[in-house]
Amino acid sequence: MVEAEIPADHPRHDSLVTRHRVEAGVEKGITSRQGLIAQGRGEAFDYLLGERTIPSADAAARAAAAHLLLADHPVVAVNGNAAALVPAELVDLADAVGADLEVNLFNRTDERIRAIADHLREHGAREVKGMAADARIPNLAHERAKVDADGIADADVVLVPLEDGDRAAALADLGKVELVIDLNPLSRSAQVADVPIVDNILRAVPRITAHARDLADADRAELERLVAEFDPDATLAAAERAIRGGDLDYSSG
Ligand code: ATP
Repeated sequence: MVEAEIPADHPRHDSLVTRHRVEAGVEKGITSRQGLIAQGRGEAFDYLLGERTIPSADAAARAAAAHLLLADHPVVAVNGNAAALVPAELVDLADAVGADLEVNLFNRTDERIRAIADHLREHGAREVKGMAADARIPNLAHERAKVDADGIADADVVLVPLEDGDRAAALADLGKVELVIDLNPLSRSAQVADVPIVDNILRAVPRITAHARDLADADRAELERLVAEFDPDATLAAAERAIRGGDLDYSSG
């Protein structure tokens, strides 16, 4: 079955679409096979969250939008899963907040970086960083440490969707404001984030963009208030409560 053939009223529609996109990403050489495993883990948490955006995740998406709008140099990092799942949406977000897009891979090969950059360009991106790899994140092994000097290395705010825990921690140690999208509130990436968005990347990225457009005319004081009032620990606790709540109806799936 191709993606367009998945019935819209299928109870697991979104999860089937997601699987198809990650699979197609592997076939196209933009997603690693490890990415299939990461997707499986995410899917389990999405199931437990009821495959919906919980209110605390929406508030986190709004705080993330405020951070991106306040930033001097925001960067949206793109890995193989993110590129397979939401390429056009990432381009749209970067446009809305004036961010750079930088391909940043755990299993880095120049070939895959190029394939992802091409894929993003096919979806409207003008400039894509990540090929220069002329700077390093300290405290990480060689290949995983590579970033662009005029990209992530220079950024004050970085959005890292589905980041691996070690790299998320290393970026946080650099003092950058880190916005993380991760369905698992217990993952190290979510735990070290300044703003953990516990939501499916499919829903989270367009939501951050919508908040950014809504806040486009907000004054600095309002954006700073949103940032100051955001509480990452309370956000993670709310996600854990939603998962443990058990008030969801899974019978249709
Ligand atoms: P950590 O090292 O941060 O503790 P991890 O080793 O589980 O976590 P990975 O397996 O490298 O991290 O990355 C996968 C992460 O991405 C998982 O935490 C998973 O929940 C999350 N994830 C996978 N698919 C999605 C998705 N579609 N939307 C949001 N998060 C996702």
